Amino acid sequence: MEFKIASVVLLGLSLTACGKAPEQSKTTETQPQSASTASNPAMEVSKDYHSFANPEQIKVTHLDLDLDVDFSQHIISGDATIQFQRIEPNASTLILDTRDLSIERVTAMGQDIPFTLADADPHLGAALSIEVPAKVEAVTVSYHTSPQASGVQWLTPEQTAGKQQPFLFTQAQAIHARSFIPLQDSPQVRVTYQATVRTPAELLAVMSASNDPATERDGEYHFSMPQPIPSYLIALAVGDLAFKPMGERTGVYAEPSMLEAAAKEFEDTEAMLNVTEKKFGKYRWDRYDLLILPPSFPFGGMENPRLSFITPTVIAGDKSLVSLIAHELAHSWSGNTVTNATWRDLWLNEGFTTYLTYRIMEMIYGPEREQMEFVLGQQSLQADIASLPAADQMLAIDLRGRDPDDVFSDIPYEKGALFARELEQKVGRDAFDKFLMGYFEHFAFQSITTDQFIAYLNDTLLKEHAEKLDAQRIQQWIFEPGVPEGAPMAHSDAFTKVDAARDNWLAGELKAEQIDTANWNTHQWLHFLNNMPESLSQAQMTELDNAFALTQVGNNEIAHSWLLMSVNNWYEPAFSRLHDYLVHIGRNKLVKPLYQALSKTEKGKAFAKQAFTEAKPGYHPLTVKANEGYVE
Ligand SMILES: [Zn+2]
Repeated sequence: MEFKIASVVLLGLSLTACGKAPEQSKTTETQPQSASTASNPAMEVSKDYHSFANPEQIKVTHLDLDLDVDFSQHIISGDATIQFQRIEPNASTLILDTRDLSIERVTAMGQDIPFTLADADPHLGAALSIEVPAKVEAVTVSYHTSPQASGVQWLTPEQTAGKQQPFLFTQAQAIHARSFIPLQDSPQVRVTYQATVRTPAELLAVMSASNDPATERDGEYHFSMPQPIPSYLIALAVGDLAFKPMGERTGVYAEPSMLEAAAKEFEDTEAMLNVTEKKFGKYRWDRYDLLILPPSFPFGGMENPRLSFITPTVIAGDKSLVSLIAHELAHSWSGNTVTNATWRDLWLNEGFTTYLTYRIMEMIYGPEREQMEFVLGQQSLQADIASLPAADQMLAIDLRGRDPDDVFSDIPYEKGALFARELEQKVGRDAFDKFLMGYFEHFAFQSITTDQFIAYLNDTLLKEHAEKLDAQRIQQWIFEPGVPEGAPMAHSDAFTKVDAARDNWLAGELKAEQIDTANWNTHQWLHFLNNMPESLSQAQMTELDNAFALTQVGNNEIAHSWLLMSVNNWYEPAFSRLHDYLVHIGRNKLVKPLYQALSKTEKGKAFAKQAFTEAKPGYHPLTVKANEGYVE
């Protein structure tokens, strides 16, 4: 998932392009021979604390879905036929995860069989226990979803680009698949699936599976996902969708009015696929298509296999925000092929994917752009480190008793990528690329823990480059807060110019209109704005706005940075745009910092409340949940 690429945060710190990472790390006292797998001894590292399922006894292997999508009632209903394998030969209870599902009946070989639905846990939902007769290898659960299902968003026609047809999309990561399918909702359970989905005849359904771009639009669609995937990668979308190819293996699905712009913006996707395959091993998923969602999609993107779900807020007209596509594509290797076994291990997915994202951006757009994005990523990481408790700054994070959605900070993403970058710098790029290719091959279609990764690292890279790597330091990266001293630093000459311009303007030596911004790209604008002091005068805000028309800027990231400054400095001329922005965009990364900043003053909170009330019917449940606390 994309969470906070090129993040935009204002700390009032004067971070320079070479700003030093906070020295919060401490060293361990022991000197292990190899990076040890030590962690909190009370924790079972391979146990998924966010699922009630019992795959160690009975493991689900395949799903067959037969579903009706009812836009009038906002429910999905039908049958999930669940094939399983007895790991313990005498096991007789199959435990599935559910959240807000109504279970009508459970059958095996045509006969009703007994089941119990436990009371719901607020984070985890309700366990569904099914007594499976001996020799039975599949059960069928007949069920329907709740209109409030946490993993499903139903949009009215007014909330779409075309305004004519409704739209539905699912978002299963981290533990929301259970809100639309009864299943073992743990990333360590991999399933293949087939699905038949019935929709209104004028709409098209697509899934994270084989999609035939030429399928007849008749309201009944068939899908097959032959590779075993974790449950959080099962995804469905239904809407007035059209398809346009971008290359031999890549294409884009979008509402008709957005199709051309999306295909143009993301036309480098095929080239990204080709270079990544060449460096890190073959693409194992057949096609790679993009689905452009309405602006309420709560994330930047979601790496649903064969069909990444993408926010329209990155269609900027100049490809300036396409690192998002590189990120979702990179998940085809890191995340979808080799998967975190529990949410504690999320950094294995996101850290290596963020590292690969930088590499893809460098291969397609050159090192100068890659370095700018690295600087922005590093600034964002420093801001998160400054705001997170020490325990949440570890790559292998303890999430017991918490909602796994809480793990999505820059720690698994940017700190994870920085760790990978350090390994690369120590052993050399060729050696590290070889290691990564071997890693993806070795663990293909498996879900692994941090500890399995460390054991593999000890056996491979650490053994081959014993003189260049330090097991204790690897331990520090994974199990200690902050960033180890001497970690790789980002530097961008293109930002040095921007820093000079900002400094001169702040010192009163240069008027805003005299700054030569003619050739600035989006990244330079973000760097310019994100590193302004926390407090500017009304005259300074007005001067910037007059010189650069920032209140009207089209790029959603630049607009975000400017609106955040406007909130922090109570710059009212931008507030009508701010209201509009909050009401029309549901991507949490873009709206949450604004609500958070507004909530700090009474008048800000009143403004936020008004916007939130208007926006709420169009927000995804996750965006509502993430922001409602700021407007109470
Ligand atoms: Zn991701």
